Formats: sequence, C-alpha cells, structure tokens
Amino acid sequence: MKRIFSGIKPTGHLTLGNYLGAVRRWAEVDQHQADALFSVVDLHALTVEHDPGRVRRLSRQAATLLLASGIDPGLATVFVQSHVDEHARLSYLLECVATDGEMRRMIQYKEKSARERSRGGSVRLSLLTYPVLMAADILAYGADEVPVGDDQTQHVELTRDLAVRFNQRYGQTFVVPRATPPEVAARVMDLQDPASKMGKSHEAGAGIVYLLDEPDVVRKKILRAVTDSGTEVAYDRESKPGVTNLLEILAACEGGNPEALSGVYESYGALKKDTAEAVVELLRPVQERHKELVADPAYVEEVLRQGAERAREMSRPTVDRAYRAIGLLPPV
Ligand code: ATP
Ligand code: MG
Repeated sequence: MKRIFSGIKPTGHLTLGNYLGAVRRWAEVDQHQADALFSVVDLHALTVEHDPGRVRRLSRQAATLLLASGIDPGLATVFVQSHVDEHARLSYLLECVATDGEMRRMIQYKEKSARERSRGGSVRLSLLTYPVLMAADILAYGADEVPVGDDQTQHVELTRDLAVRFNQRYGQTFVVPRATPPEVAARVMDLQDPASKMGKSHEAGAGIVYLLDEPDVVRKKILRAVTDSGTEVAYDRESKPGVTNLLEILAACEGGNPEALSGVYESYGALKKDTAEAVVELLRPVQERHKELVADPAYVEEVLRQGAERAREMSRPTVDRAYRAIGLLPPV
C-alpha cells in the first residue's frame, strides 16, 4: 500500500485555501487509498515571530479541524510533529546533504524573509532551513506521495533532490516522493488581492476566508471580493485573476471544471452569490463537527497520543538506518 504524508502549520487559523488545496482531499481521498499520516507541523511555526500560547492553541485547533474535516484516526495517523523526535533527528542529517544555495533559492524563503523584515523583525535561521525539516517530515516515513497545494511543490522537489543525493552517496535509504497538488484550487488566491495566495499567516483581512468563519462573514467576504475590469465572466488568470479565483473556488466546491463554469455566468454578481453559498455549504458540516469535538478535548488528545506513538514506530527504523548509512557509530 502506498504511503502518504502531509502537514499543516499552526501559524494561523485554517483557511479555505488550506481546505481546498490540501485538507479536504486528505479526508475524502488520501486516507482511503493509502497508509496516510497527517501532522500538525508545529516546529515549522517557530520559524517566524510567534506567541508561544497562540502556537499551542492553534496546534490544538488545527488537530481538531483535521478531525472535523473527516480525517478518521481509524484510517489515518494524526499527530503533532514535535511529539515525534525523529523529525528533528533526521533534519540534522539532511542539513548535512543540503546546500545553503539551495535554501536561498526557495521562493517561500524569499517571500517570508521579506515579510519578517518588513514587520521589523529579524530572519530566523530556521526559516532558511525550514524546507530541510519538511524533507525530514516526508522522508522519515518513506512517503510515496505528498498531497499539498501548488505553493509547496518546490519544497517537495527539494525533498526529492535530497533523497536522491543521500541514496547515491550513502546507499539506498529513502523513498523518493512526489507532490500531488489538486487539479482544481491548487492555489486559492486572496479575495482582496488575487495576485497573492490566500495564506493563514497573512494579516487577517477581508480577503481570507477562514474555515471557522460564520456563514454571514463568509458571504460578506465573497460578495466583496475584488473582481476585474470589464463585465464578462471568463477563465483567464492573467487578465481576470479575481474572477478566475472565484471560478476555481466554485468549481472545487461543486466538483466541476472552472473553465466550463465560466460559460454559465453572465454577471460577476451571480457568480459571487453562487460561490458564497457553495462555500457556506462546504464549511457547514466541518463547523458542526468542530463544535462537537471542541466539547470533547480528551478525545482529541487521545487521538494525538496514539498518533504520535504510531508515527514514532513508523519513522524510527528509517531514521536509524540513515544514521548508520551516513557514518555515525551505533550507540552501545
Ligand atoms: P503560512 O502562511 O503560514 O505558510 P499557509 O496557509 O500557507 O500558512 P501551510 O501550513 O503552509 O498553510 O500549508 C498547509 C497546506 O495548505 C499545504 O499543503 C499548502 O500547499 C496548502 N495551501 C496553503 N495555502 C493554500 C492556498 N491558498 N491554496 C491552496 N492550497 C494552499
Ligand atoms: Mg504556507
């Protein structure tokens, strides 16, 4: 059976982008087709300025939302990254095969380091090495596939490069994984700024739909989405980024094709109205289940405890093998 790994950072409240690009597929498809692991990758949240209490709260919330989205701990392993030491252990070894030039070429590093500087902060070394820890997350489990949004494909490419390099130099150790972005809504854009990705760590604004937004808030955000000049509803990322984003979101909700959908609408208003209702309906069951799970924190905790135990067992043999392969003396 193939193995799948993916994760979500507790850097903010989960967004519609996280859901359509990643989490929904984990629940609807991946966990049924594979031996799947889904992690709240909290170590990654420490790479930028953060409040410790908020990271803890967001970690718990992210785990709860994964379960609310339909991820079934009977099918998939759900755990918190920092509960499994193997991630950090393997990350160090991979730092010894990665180069600083590779790290500096990462688009997200360029974007996020610029954002930290513009907020008056300094850039943490871990922000630079973050893709190596992500590679460790994936390689420790021998994952074949990594279901992520479009923005993470460069990091998965780096993971492949590191796996191949390690295997060539030190002997066959790692499975070389591949990214599997969704066909539709692989990059949901900010509703107020369709040139940039909707991101949970961005300043909270009218352009971001959160999974836990009330229906009326969702409606307001989508009805006020920035659309493009002209009046024609057309699917074209270059000239109609705002409209194209709404078509992608609506198609992802309805399971249709965004380009075909463009022919159905004669006005921006009608497209916005239908998109708003589709998103409200999409989120309704997740929000209901979330409410139930919040009332039962002991259940969520137990899922995470068992998940971490399983994840440790699954990752330790591979990480131990890598320690031996690279030249470290086995402990006596
Ligand atoms: P941050 O701003 O902290 O990077 P994020 O919203 O990008 O937060 P991540 O935790 O980095 O979220 O990513 C979790 C998953 O969600 C990844 O698979 C990522 O590719 C996917 N994802 C994130 N944003 C979007 C988006 N706008 N559209 C589609 N997929 C997305
Ligand atoms: Mg991100």
